[in-house]
Amino acid sequence: MTSQDTYAAGRRTGTSVPHGGRSAAPVPPPPPPALPRRGPGGRRALATVFWLGLVAAVLPWWLDTPAGSLADTPDLLTGAGRITGLVAGYLLLVQVAMMSRLGALERWVGGERLSRLHRDLGATLLVAVLAHLSLIVVAYAGLEEKSILGEVGSLLRDYEDMVSAFVAAGIMVAVGFTGIRAIRTVLPYELWYHLHLTSYAALLLGFGHQVSNGAQLFEAGPVRTGWIAAYLLVLAALAWGRVIAPLHFNLRHRLRVADVVAESPDTISIYLTGRRLNQIDVLGGQYFRWRFLNVGGWWQSHPFSLSAAANGRWLRLTVKVVGAHTADLRDLRPGTRVWAEGPSGTFTAAHRTRERALLIAGGSGIAPLRAMLEELPAGAALIYRARTPADVLLHPELDWLAQARRTSVWYVIGSRHDPGPRQVMSPEGLRRLVPDVTRRDVYLCGPAGLVDEAVRVLRRAGVPRRQIHLATFEL
Ligand SMILES: Cc1cc2nc3c(=O)[nH]c(=O)nc-3n(C[C@H](O)[C@H](O)[C@H](O)COP(=O)(O)OP(=O)(O)OC[C@H]3O[C@@H](n4cnc5c(N)ncnc54)[C@H](O)[C@@H]3O)c2cc1C
Repeated sequence: MTSQDTYAAGRRTGTSVPHGGRSAAPVPPPPPPALPRRGPGGRRALATVFWLGLVAAVLPWWLDTPAGSLADTPDLLTGAGRITGLVAGYLLLVQVAMMSRLGALERWVGGERLSRLHRDLGATLLVAVLAHLSLIVVAYAGLEEKSILGEVGSLLRDYEDMVSAFVAAGIMVAVGFTGIRAIRTVLPYELWYHLHLTSYAALLLGFGHQVSNGAQLFEAGPVRTGWIAAYLLVLAALAWGRVIAPLHFNLRHRLRVADVVAESPDTISIYLTGRRLNQIDVLGGQYFRWRFLNVGGWWQSHPFSLSAAANGRWLRLTVKVVGAHTADLRDLRPGTRVWAEGPSGTFTAAHRTRERALLIAGGSGIAPLRAMLEELPAGAALIYRARTPADVLLHPELDWLAQARRTSVWYVIGSRHDPGPRQVMSPEGLRRLVPDVTRRDVYLCGPAGLVDEAVRVLRRAGVPRRQIHLATFEL
């Protein structure tokens, strides 16, 4: 029987495995110990640090610029060009720091929120870079009485590090555009990911012109030292978050594929084993970035949530086939080594604000919620949206959890335009199903459309924003 046959037949593939196959998944969990709450913590402190940093970045220009010195248009444009340059340099630093995957940062701010901030700040960075570039070119062209093109030519020819600065700006514009949702969603994840990695090149390529040409930075002194120190700090965070911490994690746990199980015609579960699994500090609802070290997979790293809470014996992810990489995962062989980076995310039971929770899942969005159900206090409620009965994943486990953890589960089947789902996913429908919905935390995971719509409905039903937790599977 080929792996394709076993996949289509909906049975597990591979050989006998330590976790014992599909039947091993529902192990009645002991009542979870009360998870220590990991609330907003240092989020406000980080916001303060961000604004103080922005002020500190622009302050040297302010102190260097005598009152009344911006008398004519070229001077005004030069001043605006310098400010936007300092802002762009600072925002780039913050953007890269947010990509550093420092565990502390992801714990304080949350992987999902970091991604959202990163996207929003990316748009501001793009505006700052383009404004800096055009203001300086126009200002210098005015001062030197040249055409715009002539000025670009002379900047590239006569100024140190300017070619690399233009390349850095080009990279940032390209990366910025791929952040636009409409463009992002048509790009394969892998292409988007590698384009984003070029931001590191932008950080390095753009740095030279700041110290060789930056009016506030070319002179040795505390401003220049502080600026360089900030860049070195971010590079150290990158090295720690992206290289040292993952190396330590993977050498310690040595994860391998144990088995691949078909859950539906287009969804698989991947079971992993390794060493010291009981020492992995991960919560249901968190995700790792996984790199499967086989011939076609080693160069790709994709995020998937754990679809069962950690149990010390195996880890599991449940993956919907949506593109080339997820399709290849169906053919993973038992024994394949796996490189994991994480855990990330604040979409966990520990981040709840209330005792009870309502979980709303769409499609493969059930994966993190299924894991979280094992760790939430009994009495949670789950609404699972799926197009057809065949699209309901992990059905037996959910039914079993419903009993073991006293969870109410509703499978809402049909398209969003069908009367049944429309009725359930309305403020009145939700209130009828879960009368105390406004006193619960609500965890939402599924396609972006479902999540956006559900947030609107929940808000109309009176659920406070701080009680709504989101995971959209989008980075
Ligand atoms: C934090 C996080 C956690 C995630 N956890 C899981 C998980 O537990 N299980 C899971 O199945 N997926 C999960 N994902 C999504 C998963 O990472 C992507 O589906 C996967 O990387 C796609 O890779 P690909 O090469 O197969 O498809 P690509 O070639 O990258 O994408 C193919 C097409 O599918 C679209 N697409 C991509 N992702 C999705 C999606 N999730 N749903 C619908 N269409 C999509 C793309 O826009 C593109 O048009 C998660 C994503 C994030 C950010």
